Amino acid sequence: MTGPINSLPGDSACPCGGGDYALCCAAYLRRESWPATAEALMRSRYTAFAVGDSEYLLRTWHPRTRPESLDLDDRHWDGLSLTEVLDGTEDDQMGIVGFTAHWSVGRERGTLIERSAFVRRGGRWFYLAATPGGE
Ligand SMILES: [Zn+2]
Repeated sequence: MTGPINSLPGDSACPCGGGDYALCCAAYLRRESWPATAEALMRSRYTAFAVGDSEYLLRTWHPRTRPESLDLDDRHWDGLSLTEVLDGTEDDQMGIVGFTAHWSVGRERGTLIERSAFVRRGGRWFYLAATPGGE
């Protein structure tokens, strides 16, 4: 069970592994600011998956590839490690972030390995799609 994101205390560890939630993804999930880099957006989207915030996932998805709606499954997201960060700074228009994410459902365990492409649009980073070439 996950409660609303705002109930996650600021001093708890951020689901993305980036340190204290208050200093990591909290401001993005509370819609107070927008991630300044592709990496920060990727981390905040992982956190949104972890807490079940599908609206955040949709709003950070590029309109060209965004689904109409998103039903999150029952997976519990247990950890994230980044394997590659290519561009995606405030000086770029595109960025690639490779990652490994671990999940579980009951006793079942799995790993998601993806290489995500991000683009900047109107000064904001958006998730575009998974790209080929991930190892
Ligand atoms: Zn975080």
